[in-house]
Amino acid sequence: MPSVEIIAVGSELLTPERVDTNSLWLTAQLNELGFEVTAKSIIGDQRERLTQAYRQALASADVVISTGGLGPTEDDVTRDCAAEALGVPLEHWESLWDDLKAKFARMGRPIPENNRRQASVLQGGESLPNPHGTAPGQWFGREGGALVLLPGPPRELKPMFSNHVMERLRPLAGASVLVRRTLKIYGLGESAMDEMLAPLYPRHPEVTVTTLFTALDLEVHLLASGATSELGLRKVTPLELAVREVLGLYVYGETAQSLAEVVGQQLLAAGKTLVTAESITGGLVAQRVTEVPGSSAYFLGGFVTYSEDMKHHVLGVPEGMLAQFSAVSAPVAEAMAAGARARSGADYALSLTGYAGPDGGTEEDPVGTAYLGLAGPAGVESRRVKFVGDRELVRSRCAQAALDWLRRALLA
Ligand code: AMP
Ligand code: MG
Repeated sequence: MPSVEIIAVGSELLTPERVDTNSLWLTAQLNELGFEVTAKSIIGDQRERLTQAYRQALASADVVISTGGLGPTEDDVTRDCAAEALGVPLEHWESLWDDLKAKFARMGRPIPENNRRQASVLQGGESLPNPHGTAPGQWFGREGGALVLLPGPPRELKPMFSNHVMERLRPLAGASVLVRRTLKIYGLGESAMDEMLAPLYPRHPEVTVTTLFTALDLEVHLLASGATSELGLRKVTPLELAVREVLGLYVYGETAQSLAEVVGQQLLAAGKTLVTAESITGGLVAQRVTEVPGSSAYFLGGFVTYSEDMKHHVLGVPEGMLAQFSAVSAPVAEAMAAGARARSGADYALSLTGYAGPDGGTEEDPVGTAYLGLAGPAGVESRRVKFVGDRELVRSRCAQAALDWLRRALLA
């Protein structure tokens, strides 16, 4: 499989504030095309370093893809460094300069002289149009490979890659492609899942399995190569089915699906509606549900009832119950869910009440404990959950637990 090195250019990517996400997206595209990403690096906006990085990458990989540093300012050194590393001069393209002038004219702004830099192209290279920004990309073909310069902003890079780079890369791609299937899993620890899955692996030696642990759930990635994606899938699918069989209901979705999206699809298919009554999560469940486009078809709304007073007045939780059991208790979780369901007319209501920390909690129910309520056509239930982590993590995990409960309830 031909090799690709990715170089992400930008000093901001070496700070704690910014992450290089371009290379992740590019890697997925490249694998699908039949390229293996053999190395990637992040280089600040520094001439010597960057020139050296291009030299090294050009010497060791078939294709080098660089992102960022194509802007008009002094610190946008990508073009200069690429030219230096390749040993070719930059040429001024009057046609690109005209395009840039036209772009600025359309925005009603005078064009700064700085932008001239964006009209320089590697001699022998091609310019790649950028309808979403000012920085054109560049393709420089070499024996069996290429150097590709792409703009940094993801919304500029992605369409440029899809519309102009993919077709140029395809003839350079290997005879095989990589096929990836991703399963999303909720409710298992990483080692527990590994114990369940490990016995399957030896029967599928041609599939590479990676498990990924995120704050909220687990992912299993199954990767295989084949002459076509169909042939690759033929290797991956039997293992995928075996994994699904062993993990059962723990598997909630695939690829980029979120739990809220899966629950939304279930509600939509069943023609049912949802309401939320949140205390500990302050609206997080409603936020996740409404992140999904089209959620208005099944989500009626959410109550955020933080104080006991609001739980009583807005949801009808009896004052005596709050006094007797405290706001963080099974009866209150059930009363919140039942109250939200009755007041909204929704088919299902999810409620959450708990201690997110860092302070609070009781001996019986320490920080990280929450009670979830689920009211539906079959009645109302509650369950106690206990999570570790800081405030943000506890809240986030509570929201996910509530959604998963509803998912399982809708499957029953
Ligand atoms: P540049 O093309 O270097 O002017 O980058 C412009 C902007 O694109 C940066 O400020 C970032 O917000 C974004 N950007 C640059 N490189 C990356 C990257 N590797 N991943 C994600 N965003 C990036
Ligand atoms: Mg930059």
